[in-house]
Amino acid sequence: MAALKTLYSPKGLVHFSVGAIIKKGDRILLIDRAVPPLGFACPAGHVEHKENFEDALLREVKEEIGMQVFGYKLLFEETLYGNDCNKGAHNHHWIVFECEVRGDERKNREVKTIGYYSKEEISKLKLEPSWNIILKKLKIIN
Ligand SMILES: [Zn+2]
Repeated sequence: MAALKTLYSPKGLVHFSVGAIIKKGDRILLIDRAVPPLGFACPAGHVEHKENFEDALLREVKEEIGMQVFGYKLLFEETLYGNDCNKGAHNHHWIVFECEVRGDERKNREVKTIGYYSKEEISKLKLEPSWNIILKKLKIIN
């Protein structure tokens, strides 16, 4: 596994993560994750040591749902503390982009399903913990 982009804050190790908000009308693309952390989530992942955020965004979207990002804008950037991962960090600096994508959906082994969900539907799903926080901060769910 490639080394991850990290920093050490007074609250401990921080990883960098990118996420992709992909809209179709008023619906948002969510994957049902097949590997921990489980739950419904937007395509997302760690930024590797030598990557910039845009590189990581394009790579993660391609890996998880098979689609190409051709446009993006920054929506959210914030460090979430007490947001654990299975690679040893308790904190993540999240950079979330709204993305335009093209190509056919093709999920990898980390993904059970790919779908587009309304805000009402999202509010009833079991979300992966960090996306429960991020989607609230973006006011996509209450
Ligand atoms: Zn991490």
